[in-house]
Amino acid sequence: MSKKRLDLIIVLIILTTLGNGKGIPGDKGAIDWYETFEKMPPHPNMQVEMSRDSEIFTELNIPAILAILNHELSEGNWQELQSDDRKRILDILNDPNLVFIYTGKQSVVAHSSGAQTIDKITVKFNQDGWFHLGSPMSYHRIAKHILHELAHVDQERNNYFGRPLNTKEWWPDELENMLPEEKFTAEQVTNMADFLSKYSNLQGSWIGCDGRVVEFKLEGSEYVGRYTSLANLGDYGFKLNEVGYSATRTTEGTYKGKVKWRYTSGKQHWVNMTITVTGDSYSDTGSDHCSRNMTRKITD
Ligand SMILES: [Zn+2]
Repeated sequence: MSKKRLDLIIVLIILTTLGNGKGIPGDKGAIDWYETFEKMPPHPNMQVEMSRDSEIFTELNIPAILAILNHELSEGNWQELQSDDRKRILDILNDPNLVFIYTGKQSVVAHSSGAQTIDKITVKFNQDGWFHLGSPMSYHRIAKHILHELAHVDQERNNYFGRPLNTKEWWPDELENMLPEEKFTAEQVTNMADFLSKYSNLQGSWIGCDGRVVEFKLEGSEYVGRYTSLANLGDYGFKLNEVGYSATRTTEGTYKGKVKWRYTSGKQHWVNMTITVTGDSYSDTGSDHCSRNMTRKITD
């Protein structure tokens, strides 16, 4: 073999290794993966039935479980899972229209997962889906039950059974049994929850394209945004420390609220909008072009 050819092979080997660095399962923890690729964690609408405590999702670290599940399904080495199947489940998990409802009740029908898929976007979780004898189930078990229902949603959406006999439980059972237990230890889930509380947090200062800075602070249950640097906004009559935003958190990394518009005529009004926070990126649906996408201002 010529030297040139050998060099080429070596280069190819190095390139292949580098390329794999991004996708090899287990080469990066879930947290690194979110940070490095600025991934958005799944953020379904999480609701409770009756007057159940809506903190249940946070208490059981459901957003963190979903975030790890998302990383696992995206990067994990699930040899028995076809790539088409994987993609459909990921699409469902990351669908912002997906609705999780916690009923707080016992299941009325005997069902292994303690949950019920209602339609293409709605899944109800019962008490026996997340608790056993009054104590929360392990994170891995909760994750399995969630994954099980995602497969049922897949059946609702895509009429997918995975086997010729239309046995409804086959595909969900098969899928949940692939979920690795070692990725859902208490330590990993609480670490992810800690990470998300910063990663998806609106609190702090954000810089717009002209150098304006908005600082969001939590006041009661509301995130209030004030201008700490105006840049071009001074031309429209904005003042330093003036309130320009108010929003409340709806789900992981998303906030609903309003933004104040001012005009050179002296008029002002508020516009309804939704804010999304992913790591150091802010975006909303109601600001001017310069505040619509902002970057987190890192202090110290
Ligand atoms: Zn089922």
